[in-house]
Amino acid sequence: MELLYHSTRNSSPLVPASAAILQGLAPDGGLYVPQHIPAYTRPLSELAGMSYRETAFAVMSLYLTDFTREELMACIDGAYGARFDIPQITRLKEADGAWFLELFHGETIAFKDMALSILPHLMTTAAKKQGVSDEIVILTATSGDTGKAALAGFADVPGTRIIVFYPKNGVSAIQERQMVTQKGANTFVAGIHGNFDDAQSGVKAIFGDEAMREELAGAGKRLSSANSINIGRLVPQIVYYFYAYGRLLEDGVLKAGDPMNVTVPTGNFGNILAAWYAKQMGLPVKTLLCASNENRVLADFFGTGCYDRNRPFVLTNSPSMDILISSNLERLLYAVSGEDTKAVAGFMAELSSTGRYAVTEEMRGGMKDFVSGCATQEETLGEIRRLFTDAGYVIDTHTAVASFVYARYRKETGDETPTVIASTASPYKFTGSVLEALEPGDGNAALSDLEKADRLCAISGVPVPAAVTALKDAPVLHDTVVDAAQMKALVRGLLLGADRA
Ligand SMILES: *Cc1c(COP(=O)(O)O)cnc(C)c1O
Repeated sequence: MELLYHSTRNSSPLVPASAAILQGLAPDGGLYVPQHIPAYTRPLSELAGMSYRETAFAVMSLYLTDFTREELMACIDGAYGARFDIPQITRLKEADGAWFLELFHGETIAFKDMALSILPHLMTTAAKKQGVSDEIVILTATSGDTGKAALAGFADVPGTRIIVFYPKNGVSAIQERQMVTQKGANTFVAGIHGNFDDAQSGVKAIFGDEAMREELAGAGKRLSSANSINIGRLVPQIVYYFYAYGRLLEDGVLKAGDPMNVTVPTGNFGNILAAWYAKQMGLPVKTLLCASNENRVLADFFGTGCYDRNRPFVLTNSPSMDILISSNLERLLYAVSGEDTKAVAGFMAELSSTGRYAVTEEMRGGMKDFVSGCATQEETLGEIRRLFTDAGYVIDTHTAVASFVYARYRKETGDETPTVIASTASPYKFTGSVLEALEPGDGNAALSDLEKADRLCAISGVPVPAAVTALKDAPVLHDTVVDAAQMKALVRGLLLGADRA
């Protein structure tokens, strides 16, 4: 049976997975959702023996029903191989009674690689299936990690081009260096004066510009998104929760059917939504802990039922979670409103006009599996220190937000359900903050980023990843910085300039 997709804001038209992946955002501005969330019907006990690729096929084939077996296998094989620095692709590390799911073994040492290493394969396959011969232009706003992971995934992929915008002063030094040194004739990177939400709003405005879309089509170009709103990002992220469950079965921590909790450091709500989809499919996930940093818009939402972005934007030491508009929440609203696309469209209209909306009590009832919490920047650094002192394990700032929220939840509730913490970045991606946590004071302040990495290696014994050492001599290839208001003009110039000159 073919599974079709439609917008969260309208239940028609229905399109196959390949069309939804190719478009990214639905034409009405909504997000694509499957008509129903498919059930995982194979015995859970089998997950124990399955490799990452096998798990990926078992899960993704339920969603991408218009891909042939061969097509999907080729995408999976192309993505989950030598680009990762461990053959298992991801692994679980137990530390202090929690299981850290290390999702940072890909090329850009953050969890975005889990989905963005397969998205270009899904997209080029989808284009073939849809008979599209236009150049696919990936347009993306990034809070730091998506940008580089998308650049790495799409660089020099024939028939594609990629344009990335990042907040000039809102990403870590390593993140920025990773992006501005990106190779590939089809890549373009620009900083903007503004924060992530400004960048994301600018990108959404370009996608929403019907006239520009037509102009581009006339020039044989088609915009698509690699942001976490693309269903082709969400589906690959469901896989690793199944994979983690399989490892817990293998290790005898769980028996098939036993519950596990997950804790996810959250920004755009993509990663934790994938865990919730896994639960709806039948994976025994009990509680989903949504961990926020000082931009605690989601923690407040789960606490009160009111989403309110009218608040100061805080630049924190977990910059990939510095977000006040969590786009993927729209998919949860769709589900818990009883799939009421009119209601969702209404909430989103309120959000864009007033910056806030409040959901009904009934909808809140549908979200009771989510528990939320947040960590301040000080608590984040304290957690890195604590875990290293107590368990000898070094985590990055984002993972530390989740670890802190989990430790407090566990203490307050006494819930001893085995818990998987999504470990979303290598400590070497946020070396400055991690070092500040482990060696407070100004002692390391004068070190360069790469010297900081060497210092962290000396303290922790964890080898510096190749992704970081490779930055040492890489030349800067992108140095454009613009105002958010100039984004559209810049994209127009890049894509149509030559034709219009
Ligand atoms: C993107 C990112 C997050 C937030 O994930 P969402 O899916 O946007 O909620 C957390 N940690 C790191 C390191 C990230 O790159």
